[in-house]
Amino acid sequence: MGNNDGVAVGIDLGTTYSCVGVWQHDRVEIIANDQGNRTTPSCVAFTETERFVGDAARNQAARNPVNTIFDAKRLIGRRFTDSTVQSDTKLWPFKVVSGSANMPEIVVTYKGVEKQFSPEELSSMVLIKIKNIAEDYLGMKIKNAVVTVPAHFNDSQRQATKDAATIAGLNVLRILVEPTAAAVAYGLDKKLTSSSSGQTTVLVFDLGGGTFDVSLLQMEKDNIEVLATAGDTHLGGEDFDNRLLKHFVEEFKRKHRKDISGNAKSLRRLRNACEKAKRVLSHNAMTTIDVDSLYEGIDFCSDITRAKFEHLNMDLFRSCVETVKKCLKDADMEKSWIRDVVLVGGSTRIPKVQQLLQEFFDGKELCKSINPDEAVAYGAAVQAAVLSGTGNLNIKYLVLQDVTPLSLGVEVLGKLMSTIIPRNTTIPTRKQMEYSTCVDDQHSMCILVFEGERSCSTYNNLLGQTTLYGLPPAPRGKVRVMVTFDIDENGVLHVTAECRIAGSKTNITITNDKGRLTKNEIETMIREAEMYRAEDEAFKRMIKAMNAFENYAYDIRDARRAEQMQKEEVIRKAIQWVEAQRSAEADDYGSKKRKLKSSYNN
Ligand code: AMP
Repeated sequence: MGNNDGVAVGIDLGTTYSCVGVWQHDRVEIIANDQGNRTTPSCVAFTETERFVGDAARNQAARNPVNTIFDAKRLIGRRFTDSTVQSDTKLWPFKVVSGSANMPEIVVTYKGVEKQFSPEELSSMVLIKIKNIAEDYLGMKIKNAVVTVPAHFNDSQRQATKDAATIAGLNVLRILVEPTAAAVAYGLDKKLTSSSSGQTTVLVFDLGGGTFDVSLLQMEKDNIEVLATAGDTHLGGEDFDNRLLKHFVEEFKRKHRKDISGNAKSLRRLRNACEKAKRVLSHNAMTTIDVDSLYEGIDFCSDITRAKFEHLNMDLFRSCVETVKKCLKDADMEKSWIRDVVLVGGSTRIPKVQQLLQEFFDGKELCKSINPDEAVAYGAAVQAAVLSGTGNLNIKYLVLQDVTPLSLGVEVLGKLMSTIIPRNTTIPTRKQMEYSTCVDDQHSMCILVFEGERSCSTYNNLLGQTTLYGLPPAPRGKVRVMVTFDIDENGVLHVTAECRIAGSKTNITITNDKGRLTKNEIETMIREAEMYRAEDEAFKRMIKAMNAFENYAYDIRDARRAEQMQKEEVIRKAIQWVEAQRSAEADDYGSKKRKLKSSYNN
């Protein structure tokens, strides 16, 4: 492996996940780990024989909780007696003690021997893993990095993070605060210097797995300053999972008269299913939780709608907006002074969170085109390239200024346009959406790709089509197809449709000169979309009502079929009984007949 002092990476060393990016081929590449994941758990585990870092550590966490360490970021640079350390320690399955100079140390058993590690050492293990991921991808040794920290980190926490990087063999070019990295990722700093003079204010809304941070940034020329921060160090996706978990534990109790809350294994399996369901509910209106043999051999299956999920978490979602208000108040700012609102953290994918935030900012479009789990590493990678001089001229103006001029999507039932990549999304970009079959035993699915802003696809521009064959026979809605839209840096759209259970796949490539619209046509379409908004709303209402009616009809049909099957079963059993009972008492036949009559007529 070669050595290259010139290349520098950007690392987001997160509380639950870490992510690494590098500037390459005039753009930021977010680097996937050996498991193919673009983020890696910030987790280290010790066993009788081995030490694991990242996905491998997290995957064995349930079997080895006392020696699986996560959340080192909550400890780094703090004293053992710090009140947050004291309260966090109560929640962790691993042991934390006071080491030298009142610094916290984590106690683990490794290869049968008790050992103590500082949070810096554990963070350095995560950083080494991240460094190796980048080295494997780039095929060279990496020395230089920009590492991010939360805006509220004090000097000691920043220095300790730097120390962790040094232990990992990295030279830290700069410690960058996370909200600044996110703003850099969106090129907001460049937009400012190229478009106007004076100051501008940006709000970064970062809702992750376990923490929530709001930061107000002031940008002026090349300077980005954090004006105010607010947040909750214990609010995030895990709390939303917990609410769902509680809901299903109650449901299980009602349905089966059994309480699973004392069984750690059942709870963990149900919690995993809840997290998955939550993610699905960010793009589907309903999903199903399905856990085989959840408790005492009982299978658990239940539906959950997005509306119910939102209802269960509404107070938490609202509290996020209250924190934004508080942050603005602390900085003595009006919401109308905010030029951009940037979304960071996986939980900002939740539509209700976006909706409440957008409503608070009077309908302002939120910056959300960069994957929210990657925005911080993205900005750190840009900064790393600037500092190491490896970015070319382009970096000054950032490739991000290229955006999709119109929304891109596919046609769904009722000629409705289902948008996959919204208008103004920066490219390159990759987005996915899942669709299900709309008739029983549907064996193929036609993917019609459209460009435009109208709800009815007929009024949009058809870019191309492809058909996915070989879907397995099943009732409507049961077979899922994942559609992926991938726009590369040249604006070329690659569309893939895949049915995982059938193992079938199809794809098409649409270049921006083939079938795409000119600038004038685009502008006309946007104007028309504005004009026709009312018409579109009426169309959407009609489709919704039609779907509701159709679903109702199918529900009745299914209920009827179930009832019919039940009756047939009663008859079958009656015949079976009489065939086996040729010499029973006359009264027995009489009473059986009465029973059969009553259950058949019910
Ligand atoms: P982060 O700490 O930024 O990596 O965020 C991780 C959190 O984001 C976890 O709680 C995930 O469950 C949550 N998350 C990821 N994707 C989604 C999604 N599509 N909808 C809702 N939450 C999500």
